[in-house]
Amino acid sequence: MARETGPKCKLCRREGKKLFLRGERCYSPKCAIVKRKYPPGQHGPKGFPRTSEYGQQLREKQRLKKIYGILERQLKNYFNKAKKSVGNTEFQLFRLLETRLDSVVFNAGFLSSRNACKQLIGHGHVRVNGKKLDIPSYVVKIGDEISIKESSKIRKNIQENLAANKGKKRELTWFTIDAKNATIKIVKHPDDEELPQDVDTRLIVEFYSR
Ligand code: SF4
Repeated sequence: MARETGPKCKLCRREGKKLFLRGERCYSPKCAIVKRKYPPGQHGPKGFPRTSEYGQQLREKQRLKKIYGILERQLKNYFNKAKKSVGNTEFQLFRLLETRLDSVVFNAGFLSSRNACKQLIGHGHVRVNGKKLDIPSYVVKIGDEISIKESSKIRKNIQENLAANKGKKRELTWFTIDAKNATIKIVKHPDDEELPQDVDTRLIVEFYSR
């Protein structure tokens, strides 16, 4: 499972924005962005340099990679797929990222960070349609049922998280959650307005279209 390694908070500080990579800590005063809102490194406290148009496109692309914990090659592949799909490339790109198995498990609120969800899948705790599936990048399809291994010790934590999240998380209509049994059912494709709005995908499309 290829992924970015290294200190997560440094990634946020490099971008100057919260990327929510460490679960509960991201919402606490311990968040490194709250304490030190300048880039890491010896020149950091001078602040963020002004960037060119290309620099802005590059930073936004880097930010997207960090949020989803994917590598350059993977993002480029998603972009190429999105470009070939019918419809708006920006939406298609997000749709591909949001329908990854790790994104679905995270958006459902099983665990509090994407990284933890990736690990949960990579360590073989997740079942898709009753079969073990340990590939976080698997793209879910309508009708897929995602569940947690019966004997998994983490199942109880997930059930508790789901019960605690009830009514707190933004409800998405393209999947349903059964908190009691810790299962997710994919019922349709995500609508455009249900896709994340906090990344400027226009800059990313411009970056790859250069
Ligand atoms: Fe980013 Fe979370 Fe670290 Fe804050 S605590 S800097 S949001 S990873």
